[in-house]
Amino acid sequence: MTVAVNVDVDVLVIGGGIAGLWTLARLQQAGYKSVLLESRALGAGQTRYAQGIIHGGTKYALTGKLTASSESLADMPSRWRACYEGNGELDLTGSELLSDAHYLWSTTSLTSRISGFFASKVMRARSTELDKKALPAVFQHKDFHGQFYRLDEPVFDVLSVIHALAEPRKQSILMIDPASLAPENSRLAVKSQWGVSYLFHYRKIILIAGEGNENLLALFGCKQPKMQRRPLKMVVMRGGPGCALNDMIYAHCLGASVNPRITITSHRDSQGNIVWYMGGQLAEDGVNKSDAELIGAAKSELNDLIPWLELNGAEWGVLEINRAEIKKPGTTRPDSFSIEVNNNIITAWPTKLALSPALADALLEKLDQANTMFNPDLYLPDWQQPVYADFPWNEEACWKTVSDGDM
Ligand SMILES: Cc1cc2nc3c(=O)[nH]c(=O)nc-3n(C[C@H](O)[C@H](O)[C@H](O)COP(=O)(O)OP(=O)(O)OC[C@H]3O[C@@H](n4cnc5c(N)ncnc54)[C@H](O)[C@@H]3O)c2cc1C
Repeated sequence: MTVAVNVDVDVLVIGGGIAGLWTLARLQQAGYKSVLLESRALGAGQTRYAQGIIHGGTKYALTGKLTASSESLADMPSRWRACYEGNGELDLTGSELLSDAHYLWSTTSLTSRISGFFASKVMRARSTELDKKALPAVFQHKDFHGQFYRLDEPVFDVLSVIHALAEPRKQSILMIDPASLAPENSRLAVKSQWGVSYLFHYRKIILIAGEGNENLLALFGCKQPKMQRRPLKMVVMRGGPGCALNDMIYAHCLGASVNPRITITSHRDSQGNIVWYMGGQLAEDGVNKSDAELIGAAKSELNDLIPWLELNGAEWGVLEINRAEIKKPGTTRPDSFSIEVNNNIITAWPTKLALSPALADALLEKLDQANTMFNPDLYLPDWQQPVYADFPWNEEACWKTVSDGDM
């Protein structure tokens, strides 16, 4: 019989996405002995699919008045930026900032609506209208006649953030086999991905495993909270033979509805090619389309919005992913992060990557005082290196060969 390694912790965190890793860092900083368990690879859930926009709420205020979502996000850009610059609550100086700002543009037909919206005092503080010569290169074209705003919303390479959070505390992160999880009264038996058995004794456990929270709640015998999934079909495009894609853009195009018509961020694949990653209404509507129809819709959006862009020869792909969040009545979306406490089990979803700092604040408030006499950085016995996820566009399977006849 194998003997389990016994480990005593104040807080056990399950889930190594952005929210779990941010929380682990804040817990250790506050003096809690804590360990994080991850079943696949760090960042392997929704986090690696995120566009990396640190929303300040502007997108959610498109109705012209501030909503609860936009208010809960207002401080996030400055908190993330301070971490990146080395004077924030955590050290993200090793992460990669893709763009210092996200942009919002409208086509000529929507110009008056967007102007009215940006005339509001609150929005003036968070955005700036740009002159043509300050626009990203692709919009300096003579045929662009819309309006263009700079939003104070940085865009991060999310997996570089995962590395920056995990590396300094990697010896308190354990890669586990999820089938081995066996809870019993403030104890959790688990096997590492390398077959070593552990028995964790904890004061509190935080389930912060994205979509995985549903199974964890069942395993721990909790009937509440319930979770909802919102499926998305995102589109990726990169240059190919005969199509050089040289522009990096980070922008929402405002359409007739509250949701952006399309949201584009730019990334590099493992070969160094620029990849445009497209979401917004396109991705929400995409769930009712075949892959070929969705790629056809993305082409037609780009042809309509940026008609001077040369797309012949580009490669296209589709990425399917669910957003996971607390269940709300009907089709309502949560405005902010959510936390539910059942005795010593705490369940949390950030709802947005951007909200991870606010979620960690709220989680710390739910805990009893830490015993700061301990060294909070716990080094696990029989520890092995953590495994990191890669971006989905580096998996060749997502790139489809779709001929024009399929669309
Ligand atoms: C297409 C898309 C684009 C987005 N873009 C943005 C954006 O630009 N800005 C923004 O603010 N938000 C964005 N979001 C939302 C954001 O991605 C999520 O809110 C955030 O990544 C959720 O982080 P998480 O750590 O809670 O969950 P996840 O990233 O899903 O991480 C959960 C982790 O738990 C692990 N896990 C699951 N079950 C178990 C188990 N039993 N044991 C151990 N580990 C387990 C998983 O392997 C995973 O690593 C986007 C979401 C999507 C889908």
